[in-house]
Amino acid sequence: MALTSCQATASANTASEASATAAASAAASAGATTGTGTTATSTSASPKAAVASASSASPTLSGKTVVLDPGHNGGDESHTAQINQLVPMGFGKYKTCDTTGTNADDGYAEHQFNLQVATSVENLLEQRGIKVIMTRTNDTGVGPCVDVRAAIGNNAHADAAVSIHGDGFDASGHGFQIIQAAKSVGGTANDARSNTLSEAMHTTFLSESGLTPSTYIGTDGYEVRSDLAGLNLSTVPKVLVECGNMKNPGDVALMESPAGRDRIASAIADGIIAFLEQGSK
Ligand code: ZN
Repeated sequence: MALTSCQATASANTASEASATAAASAAASAGATTGTGTTATSTSASPKAAVASASSASPTLSGKTVVLDPGHNGGDESHTAQINQLVPMGFGKYKTCDTTGTNADDGYAEHQFNLQVATSVENLLEQRGIKVIMTRTNDTGVGPCVDVRAAIGNNAHADAAVSIHGDGFDASGHGFQIIQAAKSVGGTANDARSNTLSEAMHTTFLSESGLTPSTYIGTDGYEVRSDLAGLNLSTVPKVLVECGNMKNPGDVALMESPAGRDRIASAIADGIIAFLEQGSK
């Protein structure tokens, strides 16, 4: 199960010199094959494009609030008592506060990937005038617990919330999953909005990320689950993105490279923007 592997207690060390070297190597190769499009997009702002972008952004997107939730945290692994405490997961059930997440075979940790991508998404959204709230901004703390992560979105009355993760299946499977709750405490109208957010995110992931829909879980890159507290407890539109499988060589090469992470971050940001623009019509 993806959840099990994603949330399994990782035995890996956090970023070592070995993983940094591997990441740099992966970055070099991925940059050669996949970085061009991303770079061109982000730096090609002709005056015409800039005007078009600014005029479409200001009325629709400014004033919107988005919560980004980078899964897990760097300190989770060394604070097992804290992250194993039970917290509400909605509908009278409980689960553990958080888990350590998965890691690539070379030690590159999911919690690090999640924060790197979320920070890039934050920058992209802020460039469009969107207010961004992060559930964590460093990679050395513990938690916050999954119920608190949901509450941050709820309390902000966020227009959209997105949890960002990497999965840890076996090496044979690859691809992304966009996960939504079977039902949230926000009710059916909120669930419908989460479904719209899921579809928007799926579209941009397919066209921009360089990753395929998951070959090992869900249906064509979509998944509906009832065991994720952060989604169950949300009263705002929310999805969880498993960006790729960190145990798969192809996925992890992309996920470890700055150019690959830029593509993933663009896919997430553009999915959110498409959803926000859709919702305001
Ligand atoms: Zn995770």
